[in-house]
Amino acid sequence: MQQIWQNFLKIIKEEVGSQVVETWFKAVSVENWDEEKKTISLNVPNQFVKNWIKEHYIILITKHLKKLLSINRINIDFISTNTEKNIVKNIIPASIIYPEKSKTSEKNELIENKSNLPAQRTIPNKFNYVNPSYKFDSFVVGPNNSLAHAASYAVCQNLGRVYNPLFIYGGTGLGKTHLLHSIGNEVKNKNSSKKILYQTTDRFTNEFIHAIRLDKVMLFRQKYQKVDLLLLDDIQFLSNKEQTQEMFFHIFNLLYEQKKQIVLSSDTFPKEIKGLQARLKSRLEWGLVVDIQMPDLETKIAILEKKAELNSINLTNDVANFIASKVTSNIRELEGALIRVGAFSTLTNKPISLELAKKVLLHLNDNNKKEGIMLEKILKTIARHYSISINELKSKKRHKNIAIVRQVAFFLMKKLTFCSLQTIGEFVGKRDHSTVLHAITKVEKILEKDRDFAKKINNIEQKILMS
Ligand code: ADP
Ligand code: MG
Repeated sequence: MQQIWQNFLKIIKEEVGSQVVETWFKAVSVENWDEEKKTISLNVPNQFVKNWIKEHYIILITKHLKKLLSINRINIDFISTNTEKNIVKNIIPASIIYPEKSKTSEKNELIENKSNLPAQRTIPNKFNYVNPSYKFDSFVVGPNNSLAHAASYAVCQNLGRVYNPLFIYGGTGLGKTHLLHSIGNEVKNKNSSKKILYQTTDRFTNEFIHAIRLDKVMLFRQKYQKVDLLLLDDIQFLSNKEQTQEMFFHIFNLLYEQKKQIVLSSDTFPKEIKGLQARLKSRLEWGLVVDIQMPDLETKIAILEKKAELNSINLTNDVANFIASKVTSNIRELEGALIRVGAFSTLTNKPISLELAKKVLLHLNDNNKKEGIMLEKILKTIARHYSISINELKSKKRHKNIAIVRQVAFFLMKKLTFCSLQTIGEFVGKRDHSTVLHAITKVEKILEKDRDFAKKINNIEQKILMS
């Protein structure tokens, strides 16, 4: 059974990624296997882990263990031999724990950014996760964001005294994260002794879960309670996470009482965040709530010009105008479009012209259909290049040679289209988004080290773009 469990871990690592396995399954062991009753007893470190696994992974466990044991029914029992650990202890000496660097979520951020801009390659963890490349001076102010910008700037001049908390909300890709980091950088610049912490709510949650698992909740709390400025991004992800909300509530109160500045972002207005405790919602509105909207055409053009300048891309007025008028969704996509045009110009050695931009951004006219065609094209080109059939790429085969080609396909699909991880996974044999993410991370890692491989990928990319 121990062997079976090890095999199971390998399989789910493929399926859900190593981070999940590290976080949730590392501390779980097989206590007993009752052949007759077909019952496996899993030893878990505490109640929290047990609940989490039950809620999120029980189907996976059942499915794979049945397969591995060749049986059609299995019962799963959770036990905890370590009774002491069932109680979360809060008595730990004071020293700070830092979150384990969560590669996936950082990569995720980068992938979501849709950008290969060199300036944003730096992963924001230099000083407390504030990304030094997001500053006020690279933030273009327009009617859509002027209030959010002004409030953010005001907060820096008068930390904890004017708008506390400052709550910035708006759709995805409209500049919330950029503003949060800008505040962090500005405050750091003004007074380097201030303790600043930028954190995504996802990481906050993961870190909290880790702390519970390792019985380090007190340390977790201390870390957040001693900051002068807390920047917590995408707070809507606290939704339905009762225990994390509880913890955040306490941290919020303590910081607030000490007049420490809190800045939060979310995709909606506080009241509209679903699955959030009412008392927390009301606190989020105690300070100032500001929104960011989609920019108008002029602001979009100004943003494009700024980004082009930052990345030494030669952009003429007509091309900027064209891109700005085509992209209507958000600024991240606006930036993505600029990058694609820039990359295409570099790859084909042609200057950026309206004609070139039109060719590259063809899909923006008729999104879904064109993206579908692009996915087909990528798969076809790759299959041909590696002499593998498309069916094989879409199949469940895990042979090493096929798997790596499939991973390359995922990588290029993410790079060359605006499709979500989910869409890409669906397209290549109904795989889920975490498999796609895992594959992309893997390819990125190889690319960093292996120049020949990078050249090959570049080659394929060129073929796709030219076909
Ligand atoms: P959000 O957090 O709202 O999803 P981000 O802050 O990640 O959005 O912004 C997405 C991209 O758009 C970033 O690369 C950011 O630099 C850029 N961006 C957004 N708003 C502006 C702006 N007003 N000026 C310059 N760049 C912007
Ligand atoms: Mg963001």
